[in-house]
Amino acid sequence: MKEIFVNNYKWLILYKTFLFNHHTFKTKSHDDNLIAITNALNIKKRNKRIEYIYDYACEQLDKYYSDKNTCKFVNGQCRSQQGSDCKYNNGCCRLCMYQSSKGCKTSNLTCKLFYCDPVFNEFKVLRMRDIPILKLLTARQRLILRYDFFSSRENVLLDLKIGMISFYGIRIFFNIIKTLFVLPKIRKNLNEEQNI
Ligand code: SF4
Ligand code: SF4
Repeated sequence: MKEIFVNNYKWLILYKTFLFNHHTFKTKSHDDNLIAITNALNIKKRNKRIEYIYDYACEQLDKYYSDKNTCKFVNGQCRSQQGSDCKYNNGCCRLCMYQSSKGCKTSNLTCKLFYCDPVFNEFKVLRMRDIPILKLLTARQRLILRYDFFSSRENVLLDLKIGMISFYGIRIFFNIIKTLFVLPKIRKNLNEEQNI
């Protein structure tokens, strides 16, 4: 296999295409992002590569925010919920079936990229453009990723693998319907759990 060195971010748009399926990528860089990009380019199975990119981006965000306490959760309520008349202690500020009293039960990259104004004004928050490995996704996949809130890791990955806006739209529609039915029960259980 022909070897290609990836020592900067040039040509990624070409390297990620099928034209380079039979090339091996290497890097001399010590930049973690370039190392991860090189690893991803060496994963020739499309779905496995998408999973690697997704999980790496999630890990990068978790690591970046790990010492920042951006949302200042106390007993399952974030800074925006505390002091308001919000009665939910759910580890997340939104209406979603993956809430739990210990926080989100899944790993949703779109949600990890979202921050409300108080957080945004206090911290440097990361955007998609700050995560170089996401350059390996297509424009359509990045668009899906921008709006794929309220979904499990597996469902976001499914949306990215299928990569069709129409499929994503239909899945989100059914997800909203499902949430409307399931959420009251989840919240009731959470409230009972917290009242024990
Ligand atoms: S982003 Fe804002 S609203 Fe959402 S959990 Fe954090 S503090 Fe709360
Ligand atoms: S998937 Fe998103 S909206 Fe749902 S609980 Fe997790 S962080 Fe909150």
